[in-house]
Amino acid sequence: MTTALISHSDCLNHVTPEGHPERVARLEHLLHALAPLDLLRLAAPPASDADIGRIHPQRYIERIAAAEPAEGETQLDGDTWMSPGSMQAARRAAGSVIRAVDAVSSREVSNAFCGVRPPGHHAERETPMGFCIFGNAALAAQYALDHHGLSRVAIVDFDVHHGNGTQDLIWDEDRVLLISSHQSPLWPGTGDATETGGHGNVLNIPLPPGSDGAEMRAAYEAQVFPRLNAFAPDLLILSAGFDAHTDDPLAQLDWNTEDFRWLTRALCQIAAKHCRGRLVSVLEGGYDLAALAASGRAHVEELIEAGK
Ligand SMILES: [Zn+2]
Repeated sequence: MTTALISHSDCLNHVTPEGHPERVARLEHLLHALAPLDLLRLAAPPASDADIGRIHPQRYIERIAAAEPAEGETQLDGDTWMSPGSMQAARRAAGSVIRAVDAVSSREVSNAFCGVRPPGHHAERETPMGFCIFGNAALAAQYALDHHGLSRVAIVDFDVHHGNGTQDLIWDEDRVLLISSHQSPLWPGTGDATETGGHGNVLNIPLPPGSDGAEMRAAYEAQVFPRLNAFAPDLLILSAGFDAHTDDPLAQLDWNTEDFRWLTRALCQIAAKHCRGRLVSVLEGGYDLAALAASGRAHVEELIEAGK
């Protein structure tokens, strides 16, 4: 058994304007850092409308497709842009998690990391937002439930920003537990601990600006791990953002590379205990290139270790 790295060069054709933090170089740096690792490299297939339609209405998919420019870049909202190739990149990103869920479900691999962009956890049902177009993590969960017949799926979102899109997409899905830790206050401003989902299926863990890895570890040990153990998921999905790193320019948490390693190891142990190791991780944020590469590599090294 091994760990899959699921990606596609089409994800590099989603081009954002000069100076935009969610840029092509992010994925290039991360994939370069992962190049020496022993991984089963799989191509992300493009998700069909029917795939994406599990979480977004067809009119939204068509609206996004129609917004793609023939040349240059066009703005979907204040932060979210499309270039020629963005729709295919977004389809590959969505398709990567479907391939990952299939691969861990069939025992082709133990676990999988989807190194893709655009990210997904801010995209709401009919609203692109925060560099995100389709809700990749929520799609992974919905696909695992509906296609593979799993009973319970947990999503842990450790990106520094609240996973508002994932929360919106799974709010009424009582078979999904979403746990999001994030800096608060911080954009997008949601993710208060009082937001608990339509069925008590959301746990938000706001962390104060300037808090470090020790505070993160304490919060996960006190709140996240007990909740995951009580829920006993069949599959664990990670929204893996690395922008809680102390060097990240978009936020003010002070995690370091070893904190991401610790967290990944702990989550893999939970997957081993409840999910027969089945874990799918998908890239979200992380905007300091060196921090993203180092933290992402530590994350994937732990997946490999757990998958042996
Ligand atoms: Zn983020």
